[in-house]
Amino acid sequence: MLELGELASLVRSCVAGLSVRDATAVEMVTYLGFSSAEVAAALGLTPNAAKVVVHRARARLRQALGLQLLAQRRTALCDAFATLLESGKLLDASRHTDRCPTCSAAVEVEVAAFDHTSTAGQSEQDPAAGPTSFGPTR
Ligand SMILES: [Zn+2]
Repeated sequence: MLELGELASLVRSCVAGLSVRDATAVEMVTYLGFSSAEVAAALGLTPNAAKVVVHRARARLRQALGLQLLAQRRTALCDAFATLLESGKLLDASRHTDRCPTCSAAVEVEVAAFDHTSTAGQSEQDPAAGPTSFGPTR
């Protein structure tokens, strides 16, 4: 059984692997909605350098986040990924999601969903969090 604490520390280590500048850049773009041109101005980078920094940092965060989400959900994954998780080989599992078409697609889906909720749902909390429409059942 995989412990959430292990996953949390994996994600933290991925974020910790970013330099302060990279972490700041990705935070500005991801959470604050700045453009990479604005990030470049704020951090004293060229626009191209800012794009590279943001791209690299996001790729890293995305991988860690995707792994965490997939491991929590534990569905629709290939056997290889399940085996790696069960045996606690988190870094191998993380690398696997990069190479495996099935798992990398699942990561994309998970991260896209997370990105959407993290940017859309900050100001208000919806008490009825659930499927938005139920068709009449007969
Ligand atoms: Zn896989």
